Amino acid sequence: MTHIYSWQNKQRQMIWNSISANYIPSAILLSGERGIGLTDFAIYIAKIVSCSKVKNSSPCDDCRECNSFNSGINHDLLLLGGDDEPISILDVREMINKIYYTPTSGNYRFVVIDCIEQLNSSSMNALLKTLEEPSKHVIFILISYHRTLMPATIKSRVKEIYFPTPPPSEVKKFLMERGLTENIVNIYSYIAKYRPLEAIELYKDKKMEKFEQFIEMFLSAVVNNRQLLKSSDIKSYDTLEWLDFLELILSDIVRLHMHILDSASRNKKYFDTISKLKSILNIEKILVSLGRISELYFTNKILNIKSNKQIMIDDITIRLLYKTN
Ligand SMILES: [Zn+2]
Repeated sequence: MTHIYSWQNKQRQMIWNSISANYIPSAILLSGERGIGLTDFAIYIAKIVSCSKVKNSSPCDDCRECNSFNSGINHDLLLLGGDDEPISILDVREMINKIYYTPTSGNYRFVVIDCIEQLNSSSMNALLKTLEEPSKHVIFILISYHRTLMPATIKSRVKEIYFPTPPPSEVKKFLMERGLTENIVNIYSYIAKYRPLEAIELYKDKKMEKFEQFIEMFLSAVVNNRQLLKSSDIKSYDTLEWLDFLELILSDIVRLHMHILDSASRNKKYFDTISKLKSILNIEKILVSLGRISELYFTNKILNIKSNKQIMIDDITIRLLYKTN
């Protein structure tokens, strides 16, 4: 089956218009957040281009080409990346060697590079050379989750399709259609920052229980004015998770200050906790801490420079809880 989501209809129409006009770009860049279905959309492009019996701008899911994609054995689809491991120059060279083979069934071979930012500079250069001399039977589909990190030389050679994060109402509808209750949907769409597929993953991982434990621990540290959280408090959270959870709580306190957080959007117990934290924590310090969290997130997640967890947490909690008078 082709997973195209309701929030991707506009982009689907763009691709379909292009195909109908007999113009298929040799390199397409899909950009947006993780967890909104960009990998699925890349496969959709390969399928719609290859399908021999397209119906209403959708692949038929019945022909030989569609079946080969659905069963994961399409020999004209080359997938690179998709996890957090860097893509090596050897991976890129191997891929480049393969693209010059003649397509086994349709007219094209497809190269999907999931998270183009994982390419180091020599891999990026090798890719650039290939993009500069496009082969008429190869379509590159690059996926970027941090488009500002992409070299301008690559960007100038691709047709970019941007995917905004879907509106909260659409995310909630998507999750409720999968049988989740309203209460669960509210909190998971928030924890996932309104990325629907991420929300489903977090739900499967029972992330809410961990988040609730985190809030309890954090509230207790704030109420007892423990300027530094102890290492026993934090050992069950990894660095990015700790940053994520704290950012969610602090952002909600800011929303409460701005009168744009209502109790209906969160469960009652959580809303009460946020209200309590709002009465204790200083808003200026919260804003400074949120800025610091963004910086740490960037160095740890994007630049992959790992902070010492305890020092990082001390650094933020000092900013947040240190009393100046
Ligand atoms: Zn088909």
